Amino acid sequence: MTEPTPPPTGSSPDTEGRSGPEGDGGTRSAADWRRRIADLMPQVRADLEDLVRIPSVSLDSFDAAHVEASAQRVAELFRDAGADVEVVHIGEGHPAIIGGVDGPKGAPTVLLYAHHDVQPPGPDSDWQSPPFEPVERDGRLYGRGAADDKAGVMAHVAALRAHDGRPPVSVRLFVEGEEEVGSESLPAILERYADRLDCDAIVIADSANWAIGTPSLTTSLRGNVRVVVRVRSLDHGLHSGLFGGPVPDGITAMCRLLATLHTDEGDVAVEGLTWEPDPDVDYPEDVLRADSGVLDGVRLLGTGPLAARLWSRPSITVIGLDAPAVDVAANLLSPTCQAKLSMRIAASEDPMRAYAALKTHLESHAPWGVQVEVDLVDAGAGFTASTEGPVVEAAQSALADAWGSDPTEIGLGASIPFISQFAETFPSAAILVTGVEDPDTRAHGPDESLHLAEWEKACLAETLLLERLGTMRSDG
Ligand SMILES: [Zn+2]
Repeated sequence: MTEPTPPPTGSSPDTEGRSGPEGDGGTRSAADWRRRIADLMPQVRADLEDLVRIPSVSLDSFDAAHVEASAQRVAELFRDAGADVEVVHIGEGHPAIIGGVDGPKGAPTVLLYAHHDVQPPGPDSDWQSPPFEPVERDGRLYGRGAADDKAGVMAHVAALRAHDGRPPVSVRLFVEGEEEVGSESLPAILERYADRLDCDAIVIADSANWAIGTPSLTTSLRGNVRVVVRVRSLDHGLHSGLFGGPVPDGITAMCRLLATLHTDEGDVAVEGLTWEPDPDVDYPEDVLRADSGVLDGVRLLGTGPLAARLWSRPSITVIGLDAPAVDVAANLLSPTCQAKLSMRIAASEDPMRAYAALKTHLESHAPWGVQVEVDLVDAGAGFTASTEGPVVEAAQSALADAWGSDPTEIGLGASIPFISQFAETFPSAAILVTGVEDPDTRAHGPDESLHLAEWEKACLAETLLLERLGTMRSDG
């Protein structure tokens, strides 16, 4: 529970209460809001720590009771912040929080999205401190979910608190409980609650900022196409001494086939895939090496700017291979071999067209005439956000004022399939993908952490954004 908070220090008595141009003539300055957020942060952080203590891992093999508990806690936090919310369950899915606050008549409606479930922590021994006991070291709060995405949940709570539960826009809230396991119930939730989620703008607080001190809007995400490819050369396994030489085996054939997927330089060699124009951002090689832990002497793959290789061009990775394990391998020519591939595709690429290109490549590059079979596992589209319009401009100015530096537009090499589902369901809504993470966050990994000073700016930016969107009245 939180105490009602005082208005920003420094605001004169006649500017208390509702802000905005049509109030009593007083508008809070960015500096007023900064002080307001600074006053609120100790409680916001304490509430974040409470959330991190709930191990809301949504993977099937973990106790779903924790995800339920975190849903209830998140609902309570939003209720205390002035919103009317409920915890909803769809089928076997994990609970989501849905609700909102009505703003002034004619004000735009903004949907705030985050997720309260987290990735499994992995072994405790990989962590410097236990994953579900939040602890601060060097200005960062460590814990599973401290950033991804409970910091996003609390940024929404903070923005509502800053506006005393009476934001100048209508707010819709949607906090999902199964983002980390593929958002299976999302289509059903969007269908059933479409009228309660319908909006003019969507804020998805689940991405990263470019660097400490540089706020960002994530404007493109790659899609993902996964396939299983099978190679067959024999109708049964053969003695490798009696037949090795002229008779091809499945594993060697697979290795040759997989090797055709890249040029010698490491660019994807599949023809017909989309390569989008290079992004404006420069991603320095030493930063990527530090971020990724590539070993000394190991070369990076591909040609052209690193940001392009990560965000706007396809990549293909072998993510699984079925072959006899080394310690039980017999002297045998394996008749078959199968591999699973993950192909990331440019944001504007059609996933089924990309799948067809990959399938054609694999079938037409069969070494030694071996049989090749390709099956689609799944295909998700990428996403390109509009980078202009009044909502985007409001977000850019809110970020710039919160950080004191201009925001960059960045891409994300990974895919967030639910974003395209939002875009399909609410085609006229502007989608803003904002960040609470930074390059050191290590979301999904051991020692996940949140940069507390950057997070405070993210909370401030969202508060300013609601205020600025509130000035876009449509009732005239
Ligand atoms: Zn997330």
